[in-house]
Amino acid sequence: MRIDVITIFPDFVRQALNNSIIGRARAEKSVEIEATDLRDFTHDRRRTVDDAPYGGGAGMVLKPEPLFLAVESLRRDNSIVLLMSPQGRTFTQEKARELSAQDHLILICGHYEGFDERVREYLVDEELSIGDFVLTGGEIPALAVIDSTVRLLPGVLGNADSLSSESFEDNLLEYPQYTRPADFRGWKVPDVLLSGHHEQVAAWRRRRQEQSTQTKRPDLWRRHIDSNKL
Ligand code: SAM
Repeated sequence: MRIDVITIFPDFVRQALNNSIIGRARAEKSVEIEATDLRDFTHDRRRTVDDAPYGGGAGMVLKPEPLFLAVESLRRDNSIVLLMSPQGRTFTQEKARELSAQDHLILICGHYEGFDERVREYLVDEELSIGDFVLTGGEIPALAVIDSTVRLLPGVLGNADSLSSESFEDNLLEYPQYTRPADFRGWKVPDVLLSGHHEQVAAWRRRRQEQSTQTKRPDLWRRHIDSNKL
């Protein structure tokens, strides 16, 4: 898989992607990720990427020309072009799974007041939001999309089993986890986890997943019920 990020802060993106699991995945060539500087696709001395909005109003808008040129320089037949935008569909684990099966993603990071509307209409395949709040730029959303997508690629996580029980699989949250010591300040680890009885542990975990999802995320619980109906 290859991921290209178009941004006016390429160093910020590069630095973030050099660490931890994603950094290792890049070093091991499980994924290729590059940041492209939007200003490299401008033709004036000041490398201008933004301009005032037609009709007036606060702030500046990203111009279409550099964005079209940047995408056109990177796009291949199988590329998916994603616009980071608070107006997009909310990014989910299911979407991360879908993206992890693609060959090439191009992520566009906005700034200022956003984009010239023609970018939305004629350049991108999809708009993605990471939630109902507004950030100053698309770099953090792009990093969130990359992190959650790349960790699903084969061989990226040390233990692939950790994917099968984690939150959002089968529309359930994960069960509670404990580690040593078994008694910390009088707060004890549930006996069943120390029993060595695998079936009972599995049943306890499933019960706790269900309870936790019902309490913390009734919306997810409803989806779980619906998707498990015969
Ligand atoms: N004026 C825009 C609006 O109201 O829709 C918001 C622009 S925001 C200040 C600047 C850029 O940050 C956006 O173009 C987008 O790339 C990114 N951004 C901000 N919040 C985001 C979110 N929740 N999800 C994805 N991208 C976001």
